[in-house]
Amino acid sequence: MRIFNTLTGQEEEFQPFQNHHVRMYTCGPTVYNFAHIGNFRTFVCQDLLRRWLLYRGYRLTHVMNVTDVDDKTITNAKAAGLSLKDYTTRYADAFFEDCRHLRLQQPEVIPYATDHIEEMVQLVEKLMEKNLAYRQNGSIYYRISAFTNYGRLSRLDPSQLQIGHSIEADEYSKDNPRDFVLWKAPKDGEPYWETRIGPGRPGWHLECSAMSMKYLGETFDLHCGGVDLIFPHHENEIAQSEGATGRTFVKYWFHSEHLLVNGERMAKSKGNFYTLRDLLEKGFDSIAIRYLLLSTHYQKPLNFTLEGVGQATGALQTLKNFLLLARTCRQAPSDNPRVVDIAEHRLRQFESAMDDNLNISAALAAVYDARYDLNAIAESQGLSSADREKVLLLFQKFNSLLDVLDFEADVITDAEVLQLIEERGAARRNHDFMRADEIRAQLLQRGIALEDTRDGVRWKRTR
Ligand code: AMP
Ligand code: ZN
Repeated sequence: MRIFNTLTGQEEEFQPFQNHHVRMYTCGPTVYNFAHIGNFRTFVCQDLLRRWLLYRGYRLTHVMNVTDVDDKTITNAKAAGLSLKDYTTRYADAFFEDCRHLRLQQPEVIPYATDHIEEMVQLVEKLMEKNLAYRQNGSIYYRISAFTNYGRLSRLDPSQLQIGHSIEADEYSKDNPRDFVLWKAPKDGEPYWETRIGPGRPGWHLECSAMSMKYLGETFDLHCGGVDLIFPHHENEIAQSEGATGRTFVKYWFHSEHLLVNGERMAKSKGNFYTLRDLLEKGFDSIAIRYLLLSTHYQKPLNFTLEGVGQATGALQTLKNFLLLARTCRQAPSDNPRVVDIAEHRLRQFESAMDDNLNISAALAAVYDARYDLNAIAESQGLSSADREKVLLLFQKFNSLLDVLDFEADVITDAEVLQLIEERGAARRNHDFMRADEIRAQLLQRGIALEDTRDGVRWKRTR
């Protein structure tokens, strides 16, 4: 599988540090308000990446943090008259509810910044020891001039950096205006922690370095975010982590392009945003929104319109109609060899498209071409029971990535389950773990969870 790496500016063969295990970090939401669907485009792109890694048989440890302390959360909590915790819990819950509506798989670990102050303090201590950090008026800053690789990810020359809004999120004084804050001195009426490095609260960049390294190690495979995070956030994460450990922080940097409105980035500050809730209230379907957000390649900007959601709804309906036909069409007396040919050919196309830097447009073309070819057969000749099963299996495979279709009507009998369990056992004995995992995933899709116990395999219905 190939993937674009922002660090090298190139598409590269994906090869995790540990052969079959991928360690991946996502900069998660800042829970100061409802996330907008621009934010969710980024999370949907990451969901595709996640699912593709799983499809390809990798074990995955995916960590996504929740930023529950920063300038915005503090300001908004104060304005709402709530404690920081009460305020951020409300929006973190709302975020995960939206994630469920959009069928985003849960990362394996979801750390909250305020639960990791100790790890952040330790990181600052290391940076102080190495003279990469200094104190000024109770705050602690990172000394950019002492880190030679600064600017490598964003290809910026540190001496030419513009001091923008994001660098100077807080007006603290520093040695050099380009330096960024690691630890902020307490301000009146704002939450702070008493720690070994003094009272205060963490800067946003520090949070991600500390939490990613805690759960994934000092060096890991993949780090994800929207393109706006490349600079300064990810550049600063590299400076902090590599400065402290002296090791490579991350091998592949995965950045997705923005969701636009009339050619401009969708953003809270511009007022040009929709939340998922806004769209659901207007009567749009969350799965159509998922489909819309995933159907453009992650490195291309996507212009959002309500008509676009309408078109996505129509495109999905085509697939749903086809599945209904595949289930209910006339019973053919014998198998049609073309069904297997089409299924194999289109699945290969789908897989090689996704292996090619997650080329979702080509992958979706394979799905719709499969639908077109098989629809013609189902309509004109009907399908045998075995062919019907093959067609449904093919679309379940597509759907393990896309997750926009439902197979509830797909009733599975106990005899079929037992047969698949047997087949999986045989595959495992032959060391064909791909096939074994495929069967497990296939059963899970159909509402059957397998559990390997000392006494053999048990299964239970999940719905
Ligand atoms: P935040 O909660 O502001 O930290 O943002 C969460 C994620 O949304 C980050 O990865 C941002 O890069 C991403 N993001 C923000 N605005 C957009 C947008 N208009 N389109 C796509 N992603 C975005
Ligand atoms: Zn981050």
